[in-house]
Amino acid sequence: GPRHVDVVVIGSGGAGLAAAIQAHDEGASVLVVEKMPTIGGNTVKASAGMNAAETRFQRVKGIHDSKALFYAETLKGGKNKNNPALLHRFVENAPQAIEWLADRGIMLNDITTTGGMSIDRTHRPRDGSAVGGYLISGLVRNINKRAIDVMLDTTVTGILTENGAVTGVRLVNDENETLTVMTHSVIVATGGFSANSDMVVKYRPDLAGFVTTNHKGATGGGIKLLQDIGAGTVDMGEIQIHPTVEQSTSYLISESIRGGGAILVNQQGARFFNEMETRDKVSAAIIGLAEKYAYILFDEHVRVKNKAADEYIARGLVTSASSPRELAAQLGMDEHQLSATLERYNGFVAQQQDSDFGRTTALRNPINQGPFYAIRIAPGVHHTMGGVTINPDTQVLNTDKQAIPGAYAAGEVVGGVHGGNRIGGNAVADIIIFGTLAGHMAASRAKSGL
Ligand code: ADP
Repeated sequence: GPRHVDVVVIGSGGAGLAAAIQAHDEGASVLVVEKMPTIGGNTVKASAGMNAAETRFQRVKGIHDSKALFYAETLKGGKNKNNPALLHRFVENAPQAIEWLADRGIMLNDITTTGGMSIDRTHRPRDGSAVGGYLISGLVRNINKRAIDVMLDTTVTGILTENGAVTGVRLVNDENETLTVMTHSVIVATGGFSANSDMVVKYRPDLAGFVTTNHKGATGGGIKLLQDIGAGTVDMGEIQIHPTVEQSTSYLISESIRGGGAILVNQQGARFFNEMETRDKVSAAIIGLAEKYAYILFDEHVRVKNKAADEYIARGLVTSASSPRELAAQLGMDEHQLSATLERYNGFVAQQQDSDFGRTTALRNPINQGPFYAIRIAPGVHHTMGGVTINPDTQVLNTDKQAIPGAYAAGEVVGGVHGGNRIGGNAVADIIIFGTLAGHMAASRAKSGL
């Protein structure tokens, strides 16, 4: 007969892998199914870090933070549209999620900030490298150590139910064989739909023609799988464009570069906005420029603290020069304007006050140490805040807000946590917090005899 497992996890991004590890550690038998040929989903591309307030690592650094402030700033950034119950659970469980990772050898003990946060609470690897690759390789190490079964190149095409409760999943593998796996618990961790341009444009016609930062697998299939068994959706039109995307490669330039002290200038060499505002506002400011692009500009101070900057240089995305004057020449920019911009900005850093645009965070160093670097950027589709409805225990809710027995969801496939705009560093927090919770819930269901 068909194979039976306690828990089937659909998707091998951060949410899926965290769920699988937690369910296994609570004694459940687990199968992870991934449609792409590689593990890691879009999580592998995550750059900034993982937000959490009141963590051990903040305390070690003497950073005073509060869960209440983290809640308030996330809600403000989300334009007050976040689901309060989900956001409460998110903020409350964030420090333990940082510890859950640390217990498994994944140390996010360097701390920076992102747009919309007033306190350093974005946890990242010690060497300042991008969080995604480090996180996924650490999770994969834990998956392998436990010998958890991961089927790659295999797509879940249907969730089976009986009397409204989950009984199994249907899979299609890369040889086009259809398989059935029996289970009483399925965790849908299939990510968002930024790479499905038809679906993006269906909800947001204004985003036609935008590039996306996401991997090919971000097509939103998991939302359909759950809708087919009755799930409700929320906030489907809330789609985030990220302000700093290199357009010829669709490569995202991490917010940690601005968080490390970079500025944005227009083609004339002038600043035009508070670089540390939330993503929606910075994106709107760039789209509002006549040229519809801008440059992210930084110096050696910023590069030495950000591994990501070296990666951008290695990929050929960066124009570098020994002086601002030479940089301006290479970018076809007015050198006097650029020099004046830097001089004025460096004065703001000295005073710790930006009289032009009100930037209050990451006024870290003057931009005065060569080489000087610039990357031409414009917005791209980055994150879909909408998705299926869940309760704070990750149980999928149907259109009448009733839990569907045996169906759990976590990560970007879920709607409501981030409201109208996701704060940088909150997606990685989301996937670990709700991924581990979904794993716990599914394992408990298995223990109860199902
Ligand atoms: P999150 O950040 O929420 O964990 P990711 O985008 O990192 O989401 O990972 C989601 C993963 O789910 C991707 O690797 C994607 O290829 C996979 N996936 C999406 N739909 C299916 C499906 N129907 N069957 C199997 N895997 C899927």
